[in-house]
Amino acid sequence: MKRKELILERMNQLLELAEKNIKDKPERTKRYVGLARKLSSRYRIAIPERFKKRICKSCNIMWIPGYNAKVQLNKRSKVVEYKCECGALRRFGYTKKRDDR
Ligand SMILES: [Zn+2]
Repeated sequence: MKRKELILERMNQLLELAEKNIKDKPERTKRYVGLARKLSSRYRIAIPERFKKRICKSCNIMWIPGYNAKVQLNKRSKVVEYKCECGALRRFGYTKKRDDR
């Protein structure tokens, strides 16, 4: 297996663990997300798509909409807004698939 694949697999494991701990041990979630993001930036590997839009870049928590994040849909500008419990706001367009850089 290539190194990139190994790292991607490790990131997936970390993020799955992060997801499992959100409700009981949010501090762990933050730690796992932090580690996954560190791998992502060190090896320039994107966070897997299914987790990418559920992570707070400020506090490293993973969101469950309605549980620890408010989700607002702005139909006019076609944007979804996630407001984290730490106060951070992230916006995603939902019309076209678009990569962040
Ligand atoms: Zn946050």
